[in-house]
Amino acid sequence: MPLRIKILGSGTANGLPSPFCDCETCRRARASQDPRDLRRRTSYLIDDDTIVDFGPDAYWQSVTYGVKLHRLKRILHTHRHGDHINPELLCYRRTGWSMNHMRLKLFASKPTLIALQTWALQNEGVRSFDEMDIDDVCLTAGHAVTDGSDLDILPLAAKHHHIEALVYLLTRNGRTVFIGNDSGYYPEETWKALEGKHLDLAFLDATFGLFKADYDDDHMGAATTLRAIMRLREMKCLTEDSQVFGIHFSHAGHALHSELEAFFAPHHIGVAYDGLEVAVP
Ligand SMILES: [Zn+2]
Ligand SMILES: [Zn+2]
Ligand SMILES: [Zn+2]
Repeated sequence: MPLRIKILGSGTANGLPSPFCDCETCRRARASQDPRDLRRRTSYLIDDDTIVDFGPDAYWQSVTYGVKLHRLKRILHTHRHGDHINPELLCYRRTGWSMNHMRLKLFASKPTLIALQTWALQNEGVRSFDEMDIDDVCLTAGHAVTDGSDLDILPLAAKHHHIEALVYLLTRNGRTVFIGNDSGYYPEETWKALEGKHLDLAFLDATFGLFKADYDDDHMGAATTLRAIMRLREMKCLTEDSQVFGIHFSHAGHALHSELEAFFAPHHIGVAYDGLEVAVP
């Protein structure tokens, strides 16, 4: 069985164009004939049963791309920033709002689980994940868990605004995908954990695109994304048959899709966009 990934969103917290912004990049994105220049908040659908990051665009994304949320088995969260969580939508799993035939598993770090619970309690009076037919699984960087019969989840530390943020190495039926958005150049412990691993598919943060290309602190610019990919290639984590993409693009990167492609294509790196489908055969 091939592993299939659909990109439901490829943008940053404010999306692209940024809602109130009148900068040249946002103006060009609004006027563009290329739908890849519009970027909703970053989210991934894996094999129709798993979503990584379920943000403010999740409702729109599920309707537009025909994602059957009622059949979803699990959501993995990278961190608690508002562009990656959507507690309000989860609250609509309660009795009276939703007839659920399946429980949903939620995988996240402790601070992210607390942020979701706190919002649900304060705004909707929801006292537990159980009221939403949700089973929560608390993750710690470096500690792998297996879910179901075939999904291995290895959360690893991200470098992101001094909060507990995770990137993921997911393995299913021998196929491995690395989800690496919302991190600067990865912490050494994460590089160490990746040693000896082969990545069939990888998505790396490229938030600051071509403008702050060398930025490597809590996000990456395109030149840092390239540097991280070169290291993964030197480590033989990425090989010739691997597919690799930049993702989580901001208006502050001052680049439209075609310009990002012009930068990355010579290095055999793709540029993720909303609706992109990738399969690992
Ligand atoms: Zn983000
Ligand atoms: Zn702008
Ligand atoms: Zn973030």
